[in-house]
Amino acid sequence: MADPAGASLRQRLATRLALGGPMTVADYMSEALGHPRHGYYSQRDPLGAGGDFITAPEISQMFGELIGAWLAERWQALGAPGKVHLVELGPGRGTLMEDALRATRGVAGFHQAIALHLVEINRTLREMQQAAIARIAPQLTPHWHEAFAAVPDDAPLLLLANEFFDALPIRQLQRTERDWRERLVALQEERLRFVLAPGPSPLAALLLPSLAAAGPGAIAELSLPARALARDIGERLVRQRGAALIVDYGYDRPRLGESLQAVRDHKKVAVLDQPGEADLSAHVDFTSLAQSATSAGAIAHGPATQGDFLRALGIELRCAALKQRADATQAAVLDSGVARLIEPKQMGTLFKVLALTDATSGTPAGFPPAGAG
Ligand code: SAH
Repeated sequence: MADPAGASLRQRLATRLALGGPMTVADYMSEALGHPRHGYYSQRDPLGAGGDFITAPEISQMFGELIGAWLAERWQALGAPGKVHLVELGPGRGTLMEDALRATRGVAGFHQAIALHLVEINRTLREMQQAAIARIAPQLTPHWHEAFAAVPDDAPLLLLANEFFDALPIRQLQRTERDWRERLVALQEERLRFVLAPGPSPLAALLLPSLAAAGPGAIAELSLPARALARDIGERLVRQRGAALIVDYGYDRPRLGESLQAVRDHKKVAVLDQPGEADLSAHVDFTSLAQSATSAGAIAHGPATQGDFLRALGIELRCAALKQRADATQAAVLDSGVARLIEPKQMGTLFKVLALTDATSGTPAGFPPAGAG
Protein backbone atom coordinates (compact mmCIF):
# COMPACT_ATOMS: atom_id res chain seq x y z
CA MET A 1 0.00 0.00 0.00
CA ALA A 2 1.23 3.50 -0.79
CA ASP A 3 -0.04 4.75 2.57
CA PRO A 4 1.08 2.25 5.23
CA ALA A 5 -0.64 2.72 8.56
CA GLY A 6 2.61 3.32 10.45
CA ALA A 7 4.03 5.95 8.10
CA SER A 8 4.71 9.35 9.58
CA LEU A 9 2.84 12.34 8.26
CA ARG A 10 6.05 13.57 6.62
CA GLN A 11 6.35 10.27 4.71
CA ARG A 12 2.68 10.40 3.70
CA LEU A 13 3.06 13.93 2.41
CA ALA A 14 6.23 12.98 0.51
CA THR A 15 4.37 10.08 -1.15
CA ARG A 16 1.44 12.29 -2.05
CA LEU A 17 3.70 15.00 -3.49
CA ALA A 18 5.75 12.45 -5.46
CA LEU A 19 2.59 11.01 -7.00
CA GLY A 20 0.39 14.07 -7.33
CA GLY A 21 2.75 17.03 -7.65
CA PRO A 22 2.87 20.19 -5.52
CA MET A 23 0.08 21.15 -3.10
CA THR A 24 -1.11 24.54 -1.89
CA VAL A 25 0.10 25.88 1.46
CA ALA A 26 -3.54 25.56 2.61
CA ASP A 27 -3.57 21.82 1.80
CA TYR A 28 -0.29 21.42 3.65
CA MET A 29 -1.76 23.22 6.70
CA SER A 30 -4.95 21.14 6.59
CA GLU A 31 -2.97 17.90 6.57
CA ALA A 32 -0.41 19.00 9.16
CA LEU A 33 -3.06 20.30 11.58
CA GLY A 34 -6.16 18.28 10.80
CA HIS A 35 -5.13 14.83 9.56
CA PRO A 36 -7.46 12.55 11.55
CA ARG A 37 -4.62 10.44 12.99
CA HIS A 38 -1.40 12.36 12.53
CA GLY A 39 -2.57 15.97 12.48
CA TYR A 40 -1.26 18.33 15.12
CA TYR A 41 -4.77 19.05 16.44
CA SER A 42 -6.14 15.52 16.17
CA GLN A 43 -5.36 14.32 19.68
CA ARG A 44 -2.70 16.09 21.69
CA ASP A 45 -3.20 18.85 24.25
CA PRO A 46 -1.04 21.61 22.75
CA LEU A 47 -1.57 24.14 25.54
CA GLY A 48 0.26 25.29 28.63
CA ALA A 49 3.75 25.14 30.04
CA GLY A 50 4.20 21.46 29.10
CA GLY A 51 2.72 22.02 25.64
CA ASP A 52 3.69 24.19 22.70
CA PHE A 53 2.00 27.51 23.39
CA ILE A 54 -0.15 29.35 25.95
CA THR A 55 -3.34 31.33 25.39
CA ALA A 56 -5.14 34.18 27.16
CA PRO A 57 -7.66 32.05 29.12
CA GLU A 58 -4.77 29.89 30.37
CA ILE A 59 -2.89 33.00 31.53
CA SER A 60 -5.62 34.44 33.74
CA GLN A 61 -9.15 33.59 34.87
CA MET A 62 -10.02 37.27 34.41
CA PHE A 63 -10.04 36.84 30.62
CA GLY A 64 -12.90 34.32 30.68
CA GLU A 65 -14.73 36.11 33.50
CA LEU A 66 -14.87 39.39 31.58
CA ILE A 67 -15.96 37.60 28.41
CA GLY A 68 -18.67 35.88 30.44
CA ALA A 69 -19.97 39.29 31.48
CA TRP A 70 -19.78 40.38 27.84
CA LEU A 71 -21.92 37.38 26.81
CA ALA A 72 -24.51 38.00 29.53
CA GLU A 73 -24.77 41.64 28.43
CA ARG A 74 -25.36 40.51 24.83
CA TRP A 75 -28.00 38.03 25.97
CA GLN A 76 -29.80 40.84 27.78
CA ALA A 77 -29.44 43.10 24.72
CA LEU A 78 -31.28 40.41 22.75
CA GLY A 79 -34.19 40.68 25.22
CA ALA A 80 -33.08 37.75 27.43
CA PRO A 81 -34.46 35.05 25.12
CA GLY A 82 -35.55 31.77 26.77
CA LYS A 83 -33.19 29.84 24.51
CA VAL A 84 -29.81 30.81 23.08
CA HIS A 85 -27.18 28.74 21.28
CA LEU A 86 -23.87 29.46 23.01
CA VAL A 87 -21.13 28.28 20.66
CA GLU A 88 -17.37 28.16 21.13
CA LEU A 89 -15.07 27.41 18.23
CA GLY A 90 -11.91 25.55 19.31
CA PRO A 91 -12.44 25.68 23.11
CA GLY A 92 -9.03 24.20 23.98
CA ARG A 93 -9.10 22.96 27.59
CA GLY A 94 -12.51 24.54 28.17
CA THR A 95 -10.99 27.16 30.47
CA LEU A 96 -12.55 30.21 28.79
CA MET A 97 -16.02 28.65 28.91
CA GLU A 98 -15.56 27.47 32.50
CA ASP A 99 -14.55 30.95 33.67
CA ALA A 100 -17.31 32.61 31.62
CA LEU A 101 -19.97 30.30 33.07
CA ARG A 102 -18.68 30.71 36.64
CA ALA A 103 -18.78 34.50 36.32
CA THR A 104 -22.39 34.49 35.08
CA ARG A 105 -23.98 32.06 37.53
CA GLY A 106 -25.73 34.97 39.19
CA VAL A 107 -27.36 36.30 36.00
CA ALA A 108 -31.01 35.30 36.46
CA GLY A 109 -32.23 33.03 33.66
CA PHE A 110 -29.02 33.07 31.60
CA HIS A 111 -27.74 29.56 32.24
CA GLN A 112 -31.24 28.12 31.94
CA ALA A 113 -31.45 29.60 28.43
CA ILE A 114 -28.14 28.15 27.20
CA ALA A 115 -27.83 25.31 24.71
CA LEU A 116 -24.04 24.76 24.67
CA HIS A 117 -22.21 23.84 21.45
CA LEU A 118 -18.48 23.18 21.23
CA VAL A 119 -16.85 22.95 17.79
CA GLU A 120 -13.78 20.79 18.34
CA ILE A 121 -11.92 18.14 16.35
CA ASN A 122 -9.52 17.05 19.11
CA ARG A 123 -10.63 14.01 21.21
CA THR A 124 -8.31 14.73 24.12
CA LEU A 125 -9.45 18.33 24.35
CA ARG A 126 -13.12 17.31 24.10
CA GLU A 127 -12.64 15.27 27.28
CA MET A 128 -10.99 18.19 29.05
CA GLN A 129 -13.83 20.47 27.91
CA GLN A 130 -16.40 18.03 29.26
CA ALA A 131 -14.66 17.98 32.65
CA ALA A 132 -14.37 21.78 32.74
CA ILE A 133 -18.08 22.31 32.01
CA ALA A 134 -19.09 19.60 34.49
CA ARG A 135 -17.13 21.38 37.25
CA ILE A 136 -19.04 24.58 36.83
CA ALA A 137 -22.39 23.89 35.19
CA PRO A 138 -23.18 20.14 35.36
CA GLN A 139 -26.74 20.79 34.18
CA LEU A 140 -25.43 21.99 30.79
CA THR A 141 -24.75 19.04 28.49
CA PRO A 142 -22.44 20.24 25.72
CA HIS A 143 -23.04 19.18 22.13
CA TRP A 144 -19.82 18.67 20.17
CA HIS A 145 -19.57 19.34 16.46
CA GLU A 146 -16.83 18.93 13.88
CA ALA A 147 -17.83 22.19 12.18
CA PHE A 148 -19.87 25.34 12.85
CA ALA A 149 -22.31 24.46 10.04
CA ALA A 150 -23.68 21.60 12.20
CA VAL A 151 -24.84 23.94 15.01
CA PRO A 152 -28.66 24.30 15.01
CA ASP A 153 -30.16 27.62 13.92
CA ASP A 154 -33.50 27.72 15.75
CA ALA A 155 -32.55 30.31 18.41
CA PRO A 156 -30.31 33.38 18.77
CA LEU A 157 -26.56 32.81 18.63
CA LEU A 158 -23.75 33.80 20.98
CA LEU A 159 -20.37 32.73 19.60
CA LEU A 160 -16.79 32.83 20.92
CA ALA A 161 -13.56 32.06 19.11
CA ASN A 162 -10.23 32.62 20.84
CA GLU A 163 -7.13 31.66 18.84
CA PHE A 164 -9.24 29.60 16.43
CA PHE A 165 -9.04 31.58 13.17
CA ASP A 166 -5.22 31.63 13.22
CA ALA A 167 -5.25 27.86 12.64
CA LEU A 168 -7.41 28.03 9.51
CA PRO A 169 -5.52 27.26 6.29
CA ILE A 170 -4.08 30.14 4.29
CA ARG A 171 -2.91 30.41 0.68
CA GLN A 172 0.24 32.38 -0.15
CA LEU A 173 0.89 34.44 -3.28
CA GLN A 174 4.22 35.90 -4.31
CA ARG A 175 4.63 38.78 -6.73
CA THR A 176 7.15 38.12 -9.52
CA GLU A 177 8.34 40.60 -12.19
CA ARG A 178 5.33 39.61 -14.27
CA ASP A 179 2.42 38.60 -12.03
CA TRP A 180 1.23 36.99 -8.79
CA ARG A 181 2.18 33.32 -8.48
CA GLU A 182 0.92 30.88 -5.87
CA ARG A 183 3.47 29.49 -3.46
CA LEU A 184 3.22 25.71 -3.30
CA VAL A 185 4.78 22.89 -1.30
CA ALA A 186 6.76 20.40 -3.42
CA LEU A 187 9.06 17.43 -2.96
CA GLN A 188 12.61 18.17 -4.12
CA GLU A 189 15.55 15.86 -3.42
CA GLU A 190 13.43 14.01 -0.86
CA ARG A 191 12.70 17.23 1.06
CA LEU A 192 9.59 19.37 1.37
CA ARG A 193 10.26 22.78 -0.13
CA PHE A 194 8.40 25.89 -1.19
CA VAL A 195 8.18 26.47 -4.97
CA LEU A 196 6.28 28.94 -7.14
CA ALA A 197 3.52 27.84 -9.51
CA PRO A 198 4.57 28.14 -13.17
CA GLY A 199 1.66 30.43 -14.13
CA PRO A 200 -0.26 33.39 -12.68
CA SER A 201 -2.80 32.78 -9.88
CA PRO A 202 -6.48 33.68 -10.25
CA LEU A 203 -6.52 34.28 -6.47
CA ALA A 204 -4.78 37.61 -7.17
CA ALA A 205 -8.25 38.92 -8.07
CA LEU A 206 -9.21 38.52 -4.38
CA LEU A 207 -6.44 40.84 -3.13
CA LEU A 208 -7.39 44.39 -2.25
CA PRO A 209 -6.15 46.86 -4.90
CA SER A 210 -3.68 48.44 -2.42
CA LEU A 211 -2.03 45.03 -1.94
CA ALA A 212 -2.32 43.83 -5.52
CA ALA A 213 -0.20 46.82 -6.66
CA ALA A 214 2.88 45.61 -4.70
CA GLY A 215 6.25 45.17 -6.42
CA PRO A 216 8.30 42.01 -7.08
CA GLY A 217 9.10 39.87 -4.05
CA ALA A 218 5.98 40.84 -2.09
CA ILE A 219 4.06 38.03 -0.39
CA ALA A 220 0.33 38.15 0.27
CA GLU A 221 -1.66 35.69 2.37
CA LEU A 222 -5.35 34.94 2.32
CA SER A 223 -7.57 32.42 4.07
CA LEU A 224 -10.58 31.30 2.09
CA PRO A 225 -11.95 29.11 4.95
CA ALA A 226 -11.68 32.07 7.36
CA ARG A 227 -13.60 34.32 4.98
CA ALA A 228 -16.24 31.66 4.36
CA LEU A 229 -16.68 31.03 8.09
CA ALA A 230 -16.98 34.75 8.87
CA ARG A 231 -19.61 35.03 6.14
CA ASP A 232 -21.54 32.06 7.58
CA ILE A 233 -21.42 33.58 11.06
CA GLY A 234 -22.61 36.94 9.70
CA GLU A 235 -25.43 35.29 7.81
CA ARG A 236 -26.51 33.32 10.91
CA LEU A 237 -26.42 36.45 13.09
CA VAL A 238 -28.76 38.21 10.68
CA ARG A 239 -31.12 35.23 10.53
CA GLN A 240 -31.02 34.13 14.19
CA ARG A 241 -29.94 37.40 15.84
CA GLY A 242 -27.03 37.45 18.28
CA ALA A 243 -23.35 38.28 18.64
CA ALA A 244 -19.94 36.80 17.98
CA LEU A 245 -16.60 37.66 19.59
CA ILE A 246 -13.45 36.77 17.67
CA VAL A 247 -10.11 37.20 19.46
CA ASP A 248 -6.82 36.41 17.79
CA TYR A 249 -3.41 37.69 16.87
CA GLY A 250 -3.42 39.51 13.59
CA TYR A 251 -3.66 42.79 11.78
CA ASP A 252 -6.49 45.28 11.62
CA ARG A 253 -5.69 46.69 8.18
CA PRO A 254 -4.62 44.96 4.98
CA ARG A 255 -0.95 44.00 5.04
CA LEU A 256 1.62 42.23 2.91
CA GLY A 257 4.24 39.82 4.16
CA GLU A 258 4.57 36.27 5.30
CA SER A 259 3.20 35.43 8.74
CA LEU A 260 2.81 31.65 8.58
CA GLN A 261 4.78 30.13 11.43
CA ALA A 262 5.41 26.82 13.12
CA VAL A 263 5.80 26.62 16.90
CA ARG A 264 6.90 23.66 18.98
CA ASP A 265 7.71 23.71 22.67
CA HIS A 266 7.25 27.52 22.77
CA LYS A 267 9.91 28.02 20.03
CA LYS A 268 9.64 28.79 16.33
CA VAL A 269 10.66 25.98 13.99
CA ALA A 270 10.75 25.74 10.18
CA VAL A 271 7.25 25.52 8.68
CA LEU A 272 7.93 22.44 6.53
CA ASP A 273 10.20 20.52 8.92
CA GLN A 274 7.85 18.81 11.36
CA PRO A 275 4.38 18.36 9.86
CA GLY A 276 1.94 17.18 12.54
CA GLU A 277 4.44 17.82 15.35
CA ALA A 278 4.44 21.63 15.41
CA ASP A 279 1.55 24.08 15.60
CA LEU A 280 1.03 26.09 12.42
CA SER A 281 -0.68 29.46 12.48
CA ALA A 282 -0.86 32.71 10.57
CA HIS A 283 -1.85 36.24 11.44
CA VAL A 284 -5.59 36.77 11.13
CA ASP A 285 -6.68 39.33 8.54
CA PHE A 286 -9.44 41.09 10.50
CA THR A 287 -10.33 43.38 7.59
CA SER A 288 -11.45 40.50 5.44
CA LEU A 289 -13.26 38.78 8.34
CA ALA A 290 -15.23 41.98 8.97
CA GLN A 291 -15.92 42.45 5.26
CA SER A 292 -17.10 38.87 4.86
CA ALA A 293 -19.51 39.18 7.78
CA THR A 294 -20.84 42.61 6.79
CA SER A 295 -21.36 41.44 3.20
CA ALA A 296 -23.89 39.02 4.74
CA GLY A 297 -25.65 41.91 6.55
CA ALA A 298 -24.03 41.71 10.00
CA ILE A 299 -22.51 44.71 11.79
CA ALA A 300 -18.79 44.67 12.65
CA HIS A 301 -17.53 46.41 15.82
CA GLY A 302 -13.78 47.05 16.01
CA PRO A 303 -11.38 45.38 15.77
CA ALA A 304 -10.12 46.81 19.04
CA THR A 305 -6.78 45.81 20.50
CA GLN A 306 -7.08 43.19 23.24
CA GLY A 307 -5.58 45.71 25.68
CA ASP A 308 -8.20 48.36 24.94
CA PHE A 309 -11.02 45.83 24.94
CA LEU A 310 -10.11 44.30 28.31
CA ARG A 311 -9.50 47.72 29.87
CA ALA A 312 -12.89 48.90 28.63
CA LEU A 313 -14.46 45.83 30.25
CA GLY A 314 -12.79 46.76 33.54
CA ILE A 315 -9.93 44.28 33.89
CA GLU A 316 -7.99 46.63 36.17
CA LEU A 317 -10.93 47.01 38.57
CA ARG A 318 -11.55 43.28 38.49
CA CYS A 319 -7.90 42.67 39.34
CA ALA A 320 -8.01 45.15 42.23
CA ALA A 321 -11.13 43.43 43.60
CA LEU A 322 -9.53 39.97 43.40
CA LYS A 323 -6.35 41.28 45.06
CA GLN A 324 -8.28 42.35 48.16
CA ARG A 325 -8.78 38.67 48.96
CA ALA A 326 -5.31 37.57 47.80
CA ASP A 327 -2.01 37.04 49.59
CA ALA A 328 1.18 38.64 48.23
CA THR A 329 2.06 35.70 45.96
CA GLN A 330 -1.46 35.52 44.51
CA ALA A 331 -1.50 39.29 44.03
CA ALA A 332 1.72 39.11 42.03
CA VAL A 333 0.22 36.38 39.81
CA LEU A 334 -2.90 38.51 39.22
CA ASP A 335 -0.81 41.56 38.32
CA SER A 336 1.42 39.67 35.94
CA GLY A 337 -1.64 38.08 34.30
CA VAL A 338 -3.15 41.50 33.61
CA ALA A 339 0.18 42.76 32.28
CA ARG A 340 0.54 39.82 29.91
CA LEU A 341 -2.98 40.29 28.59
CA ILE A 342 -3.00 44.06 28.09
CA GLU A 343 0.55 45.44 27.86
CA PRO A 344 1.49 46.55 24.33
CA LYS A 345 4.78 44.64 24.49
CA GLN A 346 2.95 41.46 25.46
CA MET A 347 -0.49 40.46 24.05
CA GLY A 348 -2.20 43.84 24.37
CA THR A 349 -1.57 45.18 20.89
CA LEU A 350 -0.80 42.16 18.71
CA PHE A 351 -4.10 40.54 19.70
CA LYS A 352 -7.30 42.05 18.32
CA VAL A 353 -10.96 41.65 19.22
CA LEU A 354 -13.69 41.81 16.58
CA ALA A 355 -17.38 41.68 17.50
CA LEU A 356 -20.11 40.87 14.99
CA THR A 357 -23.78 41.45 15.72
CA ASP A 358 -27.09 41.59 13.96
CA ALA A 359 -28.24 45.09 13.04
CA THR A 360 -30.82 45.43 15.82
CA SER A 361 -29.12 44.66 19.13
CA GLY A 362 -26.81 47.70 19.49
CA THR A 363 -23.11 48.18 20.24
CA PRO A 364 -21.57 45.55 22.55
CA ALA A 365 -19.53 46.43 25.64
CA GLY A 366 -15.85 47.13 25.01
CA PHE A 367 -16.34 48.96 21.69
CA PRO A 368 -17.02 52.61 20.95
CA PRO A 369 -20.68 53.30 20.10
CA ALA A 370 -21.46 53.22 16.37
CA GLY A 371 -20.57 56.57 14.78
CA ALA A 372 -18.06 57.51 17.52
CA GLY A 373 -14.37 58.14 17.00
N1 SAH B 1 -9.52 28.64 22.42
C1 SAH B 1 -8.56 27.87 23.18
C2 SAH B 1 -7.68 26.95 22.32
C3 SAH B 1 -6.94 27.58 21.19
S1 SAH B 1 -5.99 26.38 20.28
C4 SAH B 1 -7.70 28.77 24.03
O1 SAH B 1 -7.74 29.98 23.79
O2 SAH B 1 -7.00 28.29 24.89
C5 SAH B 1 -7.05 26.00 18.92
C6 SAH B 1 -8.26 25.18 19.25
O3 SAH B 1 -9.00 24.96 18.04
C7 SAH B 1 -7.99 23.80 19.82
O4 SAH B 1 -9.03 23.47 20.69
C8 SAH B 1 -8.03 22.94 18.56
O5 SAH B 1 -8.18 21.58 18.83
C9 SAH B 1 -9.17 23.55 17.82
N2 SAH B 1 -9.17 23.39 16.37
C10 SAH B 1 -8.15 23.65 15.52
N3 SAH B 1 -8.54 23.49 14.25
C11 SAH B 1 -9.85 23.15 14.28
C12 SAH B 1 -10.83 22.86 13.28
N4 SAH B 1 -10.53 22.89 11.99
N5 SAH B 1 -12.09 22.55 13.69
C13 SAH B 1 -12.41 22.53 15.01
N6 SAH B 1 -11.52 22.79 16.00
C14 SAH B 1 -10.26 23.08 15.64
